[in-house]
Amino acid sequence: MTDIAANITAVKARIVAAARRAGRDPATVSLVAVSKRVDAEQLAVAVAAGQLLFGENYLQEAEAKIVRLRELLAGAESGAGPEATAEAGIGWHFIGHLQSNKAKAAATGFAMVETVDRLKLATALDRHASAAGRVLPVLVQVNVGEERQKAGVAPAQAPDLLRAMAALPALRVMGLMTMPPMAADPEQSRPHFARLRQLARECAGLGLLGVHGPPLLSMGMSADFEVAVEEGANLVRVGTAIFGPR
Ligand SMILES: *Cc1c(COP(=O)(O)O)cnc(C)c1O
Repeated sequence: MTDIAANITAVKARIVAAARRAGRDPATVSLVAVSKRVDAEQLAVAVAAGQLLFGENYLQEAEAKIVRLRELLAGAESGAGPEATAEAGIGWHFIGHLQSNKAKAAATGFAMVETVDRLKLATALDRHASAAGRVLPVLVQVNVGEERQKAGVAPAQAPDLLRAMAALPALRVMGLMTMPPMAADPEQSRPHFARLRQLARECAGLGLLGVHGPPLLSMGMSADFEVAVEEGANLVRVGTAIFGPR
């Protein structure tokens, strides 16, 4: 059996240790628990263990799960009054591939979309966020390894995309996200993480990032999140190390 609560404690301790090694304040790193193919019952265990930030890859799966989790948490709090659900404070990040024609659900149901990699998608998200009367925090996904089949804007194209997105009033670009090439050794991810950090610095220097505070870097997964924290990650997206193998 996977002990979700113990895994969360262990992952958080490893984040703190990695931050300290790098001379960083651990409070600048948030754990996004990646819950794709994890059911709402398991998420409720994570919530009870204090984990309130989740990342989902698939819209339909996420929507059903959010409803189910809300029911579970409301049940757990019965007697406390309908508005006093433990759901308060739970945040959802969309971290999957997103088609522009599905932008509405992402723009309205999530606290952040981490995977914006083209202007058409950004424009669709902006339109739906605007119609919903909200400003949507987003990250621009960068294909740091310049892999052929991988989502993400090429690093050299990132400034142009950010420049175009600055004209979209309902989007708030908070930083950059990446998934480096698959690697057997986490150290192989290090130069890619460093490259994302460097790119964010360059874009901030051009006035294209950092308008809403220091740019956020979303990087690092179960296999390499400690390296990512050492290289400056503010959001680490960890699934397997919390919920077990999918
Ligand atoms: C699945 C996924 C993760 C988590 O991967 P693990 O190896 O299970 O930690 C992180 N980021 C993205 C974009 C993912 O799709």
